[in-house]
Amino acid sequence: MTAYVCGRCGSLVERDARRCVSCGRPWPALFGLRPALDRVFSPHVSFAKTLALTLVVIYLAMTLVAQKTGDVAGGGLERFTAGPLTLVRFGAMYDKLFYAGDWWRPITACLLHAGVLHVLFNVVALFQIGPLIEYIYGPARFTVMFLASGVAGYLAGLPFLAFTVGASGAICGMVGALIGYGYQRGGAYGEAARRQGIQWLIYVALFGFLVPGVNNYAHFGGAAAGYLLGRVFDIRQMNRGRESDGARLAALVCMALVLAACGLAAYSTLTTDR
Ligand SMILES: [Zn+2]
Repeated sequence: MTAYVCGRCGSLVERDARRCVSCGRPWPALFGLRPALDRVFSPHVSFAKTLALTLVVIYLAMTLVAQKTGDVAGGGLERFTAGPLTLVRFGAMYDKLFYAGDWWRPITACLLHAGVLHVLFNVVALFQIGPLIEYIYGPARFTVMFLASGVAGYLAGLPFLAFTVGASGAICGMVGALIGYGYQRGGAYGEAARRQGIQWLIYVALFGFLVPGVNNYAHFGGAAAGYLLGRVFDIRQMNRGRESDGARLAALVCMALVLAACGLAAYSTLTTDR
């Protein structure tokens, strides 16, 4: 028989208890779902690193499809860059289709990259800052911040660039979260984290203004969203051992949204003639 503990105070509770007798928390055993949540949000699996590897796999798969269909961006290194048609089929952010009802494009576009350097740059950045944010906030809130920043970036960039892909906005969100963390933590360590984050954003800005075709609005929209969440999400939660049930359920909703968005992208590609 499984023993269930209250998610707030840790007292033993009945599986279907409506309220914890010790602290009054409603549905303290979360309908018996907590052991399953503990398995999903295991401290032994890095969500950030898994996500970075997933982005590489998606890139390779898309490149393969692009080469099979002959829709590549050009010669040389560009042979490993999917052409616009393939990008749209895989779920690139494209304003016309977004306004025509493809609401899921800001989600799927976060998983796609146009070019070897683009994916390499983002994956290296994610490998560097992702595990740090995951350590500070926990994997569930990392997941929520990543998706929210990515989508916020695309929505901020929407009026300025018609066609975009990349996890850059979401990764800038991680930098924003580091700055938010610095403010929240305070002291010398918080100051150092804040300075590091601001320095990275300056590099991103320089890069964005020097290299053509970069959607700076998406970068800064993502950074702003990450910063807000980094300030709002309580950093003491991880010191107390683990993330709240609410954070974990929110992360599951985000993952379900990503899966639904990928499903809709596949459905739309298979059913429309584009
Ligand atoms: Zn309790």
